[in-house]
Amino acid sequence: MEQNKDLNQIDIPLAKRIYINNSHSTLFKKLLIFSPFLLLLFSYAALRLIKNIEQIPFINLNFQAEKNQDNRILGHLPYAEIPKEKLVLIEPNIEVHIDMRDSLLNMRKEARKDGIYLVFLSGYRSINLQKEIFYSLKSFRNQEAAERARVSAPPGYSEHSTGFAIDIGDATQRETDFETEFQNTDAFNWLIKNAAKFHFKLSFTKDNKYIDYEPWHWRYEGSIEALKVFESSNRKS
Ligand SMILES: [Zn+2]
Repeated sequence: MEQNKDLNQIDIPLAKRIYINNSHSTLFKKLLIFSPFLLLLFSYAALRLIKNIEQIPFINLNFQAEKNQDNRILGHLPYAEIPKEKLVLIEPNIEVHIDMRDSLLNMRKEARKDGIYLVFLSGYRSINLQKEIFYSLKSFRNQEAAERARVSAPPGYSEHSTGFAIDIGDATQRETDFETEFQNTDAFNWLIKNAAKFHFKLSFTKDNKYIDYEPWHWRYEGSIEALKVFESSNRKS
């Protein structure tokens, strides 16, 4: 009996239909109309945000890479100056690293046997001399530093300061000294075929993206020290 009484007292709610009142419904309609535009606005904002987030570390990374990878200045890699005691005079005004002397002289001797007369134009150059060359020629030729750097290394950035670089000419065609035309000489053709046997390599080839083609400029890579010096350059090219 007690239970029935309780049941009777429970108020069972009737199903109610709830109508959205008028003001709510117009707002909903408006939202529906504007939703494509809102979506577009949000997408645009999101894209901008993603782009910004991506860009910041990308710029930093790039900058870091340029700084760390090779420390190039105007396309040239830095080279330390060789200690004086490692330099030897091979002929008046031409000094080279002692490690490369024999190989270099041997190469000239072998070339002569083939009727080719190699002439050494420039070997070791001190950073001070490089400074003179770079700045005096730059002002003489009225060139910008970047322009000049395509044909001459800034001081502290020349392979010549390592003692492992040598500029070579053809003794029978001296007008091609330090000229791209050197590539048409017999000396150059002989070097292309034979220099590697003596551990010499053309430093600035035609496809070098930083520095102009220098068919006369060769470097020695026949010792561990030389390989260490040019490791960074070989990694890039
Ligand atoms: Zn050179």
